[in-house]
Amino acid sequence: MSRYEAVIGLEVHAQLLTKTKAFCSCSTAFGAPPNTQVCPTCLGLPGALPVLNGKAVELAVRAALALNCAVRNESIFARKNYFYPDLPKGYQISQYDRPYSEHGYLDITVETKGSEPATKRVGITRAHMEEDAGKNMHEHGDVSVVDLNRSGTALVEIVSEPDLRSADEAAEYLKTLREILVFIGVNDGNLEEGSFRCDANVSIRPLGQEKFGTRAELKNINSFKFVREAINYEIARQEGVLESGGKVIQETRGWDEKAGKTFSMRSKEEAQDYRYFPEPDLPPLVISDAFVEEVRTTMPELPAARRARFVRDHGQTPYAAQVLTTHPEVTRFYEEAVALHGDFVKVGNFVQAEVLRDVQTRGLTATFSVSASQVAELLKLVDQGDISGKQAKEVYAKMVGTSKAPADIVKELGMQQVTDSGAIDEVCKRVVDESPKQAEAYKAGKVAMLGYFVGLVMKETKGSANPQMVNAALKRLLS
Ligand SMILES: [Zn+2]
Repeated sequence: MSRYEAVIGLEVHAQLLTKTKAFCSCSTAFGAPPNTQVCPTCLGLPGALPVLNGKAVELAVRAALALNCAVRNESIFARKNYFYPDLPKGYQISQYDRPYSEHGYLDITVETKGSEPATKRVGITRAHMEEDAGKNMHEHGDVSVVDLNRSGTALVEIVSEPDLRSADEAAEYLKTLREILVFIGVNDGNLEEGSFRCDANVSIRPLGQEKFGTRAELKNINSFKFVREAINYEIARQEGVLESGGKVIQETRGWDEKAGKTFSMRSKEEAQDYRYFPEPDLPPLVISDAFVEEVRTTMPELPAARRARFVRDHGQTPYAAQVLTTHPEVTRFYEEAVALHGDFVKVGNFVQAEVLRDVQTRGLTATFSVSASQVAELLKLVDQGDISGKQAKEVYAKMVGTSKAPADIVKELGMQQVTDSGAIDEVCKRVVDESPKQAEAYKAGKVAMLGYFVGLVMKETKGSANPQMVNAALKRLLS
């Protein structure tokens, strides 16, 4: 049992899904050849002036509202001065003492072994707008090169209170935050491409002590797995330092995923090292209450509220509600199929069992192998007794990747369900006659034997017999 408690706060950099950069009209598309999406402004050439992207402000306000933050009517852009090869201006346009938004919270679900999942509220200190830097690349032999395509891309930095107490809580916070930002169309949630990045401030303190310990900042952890691993490693490392009588020093540390270790990068800068001052080339950012209210009316239902509604109004289990809201497009597909079919649970089950296996998601988009209307029609065929549930899976497999109507596939496969009672009786009778021992056992009270006969009939009819009718016929014959 550890004598220490971890104290963790996260800083998330989320690229805003604007087509163009924060202060110029260069494209933000990912994957273009290096240094092809640049102009004097984002290259930081002398005399070039920034002009704020209005769409970026709208998306930033959406993020603030989703995080229950207050939006400031007048905020200030500030220069954060530092030198790095990926920052040609020598400063980053950010916000400092007057960010556009602050004082919010995010509710996460925390699971503790042996008890019910509980909701934990994590404070959001602030969210501010800033521009991204370029990218240094070191995989070119003994030279490093820089790609400035990313330079000037609009970001929000979302800073949490140090409310998180374990690596698991930190990972849950990140997942919840990412899900919300993707759901509201603010960010594409792509950790691998770096459009959603996380730094973690980690410190430990003796249990019961209120004062925070000295923290290390873990930089750019680019997967949920690494977040857990890096924080757990860091907690253990700091415990080791304290237990051996040492002192934790304030520093910036990186994560070496191959070695599974954090390593010291540099001693951590203090805010004053950046010589923040108000950006002279940009006026104060004015966001009116009317604009905030206008944005509020376009906000979709957030994932947690949607899950609660699916459980309350649709009769879904909490697990099903979770699965059906993992991606906005999955939710859209489910709701569209429900609108056409009418039964929440039948549609929900089928989407989970079959449709989700073939879905490819990428950022905000998802590619389905079938359409919602195909699924609705297929389930109607089951409802009408034309095919069995088992046959529906076969039809689905044939339907994947085509736009064929399920009824046509049913015809093609010649699998119209047998509902002719004469034909069903005939097969049932034969099956019972061929298994006298099992029939005796059933009659002697071993009712589970019915399943044995049902299985035989289904095998004989290649699954095409109506199961209710088979059950009824067998019970009659065996009684
Ligand atoms: Zn540009």
